[in-house]
Amino acid sequence: MKKQLIFATNNRNKLKEIDSIIGDRYDLTTPAACGITEDIPEDQDTIAGNASQKSHYIFDRVGIDCFADDTGLEVEALNGAPGVYSARYAGEQKNSDDNIDLLLKNMAGTENRKARFKTVISLIVDGKEHLFEGVVNGVITTERHGTEGFGYDPVFRPDGYDITFAEMSLEEKNRISHRGKAVVQLVNFLKTL
Ligand code: IMP
Repeated sequence: MKKQLIFATNNRNKLKEIDSIIGDRYDLTTPAACGITEDIPEDQDTIAGNASQKSHYIFDRVGIDCFADDTGLEVEALNGAPGVYSARYAGEQKNSDDNIDLLLKNMAGTENRKARFKTVISLIVDGKEHLFEGVVNGVITTERHGTEGFGYDPVFRPDGYDITFAEMSLEEKNRISHRGKAVVQLVNFLKTL
């Protein structure tokens, strides 16, 4: 029998992506399908804290194995900002274009362009939490390049590449990305259970 596993996301693309690699031992489902229709709180001040808060919230409500992810862009010259505030860097409208504009403005004239994306996944199985982290290092470009992807992709160029995430295919990005790396660890762990 398939084991039920809740993924704390409302993002259909993320759900589909993980469902396709998680294998047929799991029935991947959403919080809404389990009766959780309210916004799941994520008000911690670290990426890991938010992932953990979301998975615990679900487990405490319904007692079903679950996982949650949280991601942030950490820029060295900005002391790790926008970090946990990446989605709402330029305000509560959570607009990617506004976020990129503010990031480029705050980095104008800055020579150190080093940055990294970090994803943390918190999995709760049988009441026990397991954390998985994926990181990709790169630089913030001075202008936007490319139209693929989302968020800060047009201004993030991963180390070892001369194109931004927004100039890559989804497959290519997933192979090297923060989220891709964290998901591989999650899936490998689930296979050991
Ligand atoms: P979330 O935790 O996956 O919702 O990500 C928080 C925010 O980080 C998003 O709103 C985006 O601004 C940014 N972000 C997350 N993942 C990516 C990515 O793969 N590329 C670009 N931006 C991202």
